[in-house]
This record gives sequence, structure tokens and C-alpha cells, in this order.
Amino acid sequence: MAYYRICPNCGCSLDPGERCDCMEEKAKEKKQRNQFNELALVPEKGGQFRIDFERLRTVG
Ligand SMILES: [Zn+2]
Repeated sequence: MAYYRICPNCGCSLDPGERCDCMEEKAKEKKQRNQFNELALVPEKGGQFRIDFERLRTVG
């Protein structure tokens, strides 16, 4: 039996723990749209974001 997951977004088969390219492309788009959010917002499971204050401080 093969161990793999199905990408909920595009239906592509993934290795366990592997993130599908389609997700990464979406993430890149978001980052380009809002660079501030790229620095401070950390994506969490469930499509939510939390603000990473430590990262904000590091970036200055
Ligand atoms: Zn996908």
C-alpha cells in the first residue's frame, strides 16, 4: 500500500509531509502582494495567520 496524500487543492499525489507546488505558488503570490505581511504574518494550519512579533523585531 502506498503512503501518499492527495492535494486538496489540485488533486495531485504528494509524499507524506510534502507540500504541493500549487500551494507554494499561491503563497508566493500572497507574499508579493503584501511584503509587510510576508515579514510578520505566519501561516498556520487552517488557512489562518498569526502575527510573528519576533520576526518583526528581527527585521527592524
Ligand atoms: Zn496541489
